Amino acid sequence: MPAVRTPRSPARTGLTYHIRTFGCQMNEHDSERISGLLAADGMVSTPETAAADVIVLNTCTIRENADNKLYGYLGALRAVKNERPDLKILVGGCSAQKDGDVVMEKAPWVDVVFGTHNVHRVVDLIDHADEWGPITEIWEETSSADDFPSYLPAQRQTAHSAWVTIAIGCDNSCTFCIVPAVRGKEISRRVGDVVGEVKALAAEGVTEVTLLGQNVNSYGRDLELNGRRPVFADLLRQVGAVDGIRRIRYTSPHPKDFREDVAEAMADTPAVCEQLHLPLQSGSDRILAAMHRGYNSERFLSRLAMARQIVPDLSVSTDIIVGFPGETDEDFEDTMRVVATARFDQAFTFQFSPRPGTVAAELDGRIAKSVVQARFDRLVELQRAISLESNQAMVGRVEEVLVEGPSKKDPEMATARTRGNKPVHAPGRYEPGSYLRMEITRASPHHLMGRVVT
Ligand code: SF4
Repeated sequence: MPAVRTPRSPARTGLTYHIRTFGCQMNEHDSERISGLLAADGMVSTPETAAADVIVLNTCTIRENADNKLYGYLGALRAVKNERPDLKILVGGCSAQKDGDVVMEKAPWVDVVFGTHNVHRVVDLIDHADEWGPITEIWEETSSADDFPSYLPAQRQTAHSAWVTIAIGCDNSCTFCIVPAVRGKEISRRVGDVVGEVKALAAEGVTEVTLLGQNVNSYGRDLELNGRRPVFADLLRQVGAVDGIRRIRYTSPHPKDFREDVAEAMADTPAVCEQLHLPLQSGSDRILAAMHRGYNSERFLSRLAMARQIVPDLSVSTDIIVGFPGETDEDFEDTMRVVATARFDQAFTFQFSPRPGTVAAELDGRIAKSVVQARFDRLVELQRAISLESNQAMVGRVEEVLVEGPSKKDPEMATARTRGNKPVHAPGRYEPGSYLRMEITRASPHHLMGRVVT
């Protein structure tokens, strides 16, 4: 287990830090850990970038515009660093892991660049930069279940809800994805350690946990417990047995590995929410093969039908990429057909963006931007209509919801989530973290309206 330091740098006690996170939940979770480490070193979080003594950018490299955003942001920080040379600027996350030297070259005013496997060293690296000047610390691949960032202290964004890492890295080779290159091979965390963390979170008042892994269904392949490999279904049941945990979510399963045992564990474990994020990526078998996804559209739809049959009232979301190299009109029509058949509650749709270092970035057959945009618009429109129908079918139902807090648009409204992970807005002020019963009164494609009932 990485050593957690007690505050020992009086010089930094009371100084402020600001963390800006780009990208996915894995990065959000790493940021909570970075925040926990800086707080343990005596520092205080501030929402004000301009006033912060330490600024951490936790980067993402999944899409091209993520890099553009990073360099735009770093450009703006140059003047701040000139004015306040004592300011420490740190760049971590996937872009740092992949292109650490490039970051330092393009933005030499950065003090520390650290990779995805060096989160636990963030305070040491600031010390080093204080003493010796800028440092790039990239690859120290996590090699065992002892090195998980979840052992580090965390400053969570909400008191009632927490992410729990169950595996890091990925052994798949989807051709559009940079994750295996920047997060390394898949390593599962031991069942007892995951359950221990969930118990500790429950003791602190957390009632909702989201289990995180790049491919949760291959969880446990590298572990052995009493002569047997634990599987994700076992883990769901054990986390579901922790007192005080009322909601369990997980992300993401891989359609090629999603089997009945997980659906059955979901159905049998009351705390596991009726929610599944099953990334389709494309409805064309030809494109799925080019993506190295390991399933075809028929298999995807049969896995989905199985999940819906075993888990009543299942809410399903997905990811879809439009304009993968070589995607023909016919391939895209296949995607439209699968989406119409699958009837996802929600879809996260993306236009293909080549990531240097991936196989797909080298493929011929780039699709013209105007064609990709037209396909994308049609897909978004189709999914919008399906999401609206799915949400309208909920009107009149009474749902258990978990309150997140006041609505961002209107403090007199509360925002909450159903077990299916749909946002519901309702009049009134309610304590974040409280569970209420709400009648759904109205639906739109992306959210529901409700009223509290007793
Ligand atoms: S399963 Fe594929 S898309 Fe997901 S992290 Fe692994 S390589 Fe990337």
